[in-house]
Amino acid sequence: MLKIKDLHVKYGSIEAVKGIDLEVGDHSIVCLIGSNGAGKTSLLKAISGMVEHTGVVEWNGENISSYNSVSIAKRGVQHVPEGRQVFPGLTVFENLEVGCINWRGYFGKPDYEKELEYVYTMFPRLKERRNQLAWSLSGGEQQMLAIGRALMGRPKILLLDEPSMGLAPLVIDELFDKIMEINNTGLPVLMVEQNARKALKVSDYAYVISQGKISMEGRSQKLIHDDQVIATYFGKHWKSSKQRL
Ligand code: ATP
Repeated sequence: MLKIKDLHVKYGSIEAVKGIDLEVGDHSIVCLIGSNGAGKTSLLKAISGMVEHTGVVEWNGENISSYNSVSIAKRGVQHVPEGRQVFPGLTVFENLEVGCINWRGYFGKPDYEKELEYVYTMFPRLKERRNQLAWSLSGGEQQMLAIGRALMGRPKILLLDEPSMGLAPLVIDELFDKIMEINNTGLPVLMVEQNARKALKVSDYAYVISQGKISMEGRSQKLIHDDQVIATYFGKHWKSSKQRL
């Protein structure tokens, strides 16, 4: 279980995260929704040790707040960053190979057959394109590669930052199906998403972040019907439940 207590992130005088508490239970999908600049990415980066922070990050009972990102990744906290960040000049296979450095080291034996097979089964398109350079993949394929790379790292939890960003609706549907399939194997997921409706549909629990603080939280099936959430995060084409009557 992941437990965050009173987390703060500051960039100079800008306080991006202002005392957040949250939990991700075993096997669940938890989403963080909120507008641009609300502090969602900073929160994920703090969990995986990529930005300085104060407060407590507890992972399976261990306080990992002061650990660096390599030690955190070694404990199975795998971060799929915003904008995919695949290595464009490496092939699909090489990108996946990089994903196991946390447990295999830089010069370990190529003993990742099991992980690779799992990734290729989950994302057959990556297998088809395994010798293709990552820059030449479509946005959806690059997102699959970024998730695949995290799966190579023997994750015990996945942190996903904006997986749907810039993707077409059909590709988003396919991707979220995969995220649910991965979660169904027992892997918990903490996901930042701008596509609030989609995120609430697939998740168990949700936190709404506004100006660095949690402004609302609850079961996703409840928040998806909340008028304030609909009005603020579902875009102008969505009507509140009262308007729909
Ligand atoms: P988005 O959806 O646009 O990515 P977000 O909710 O993920 O937004 P963050 O990226 O965490 O929000 O940003 C929170 C605040 O911190 C913003 O005001 C942003 O400008 C600021 N910020 C983020 N990274 C830095 C940085 N490296 N240096 C200075 N300020 C930063």
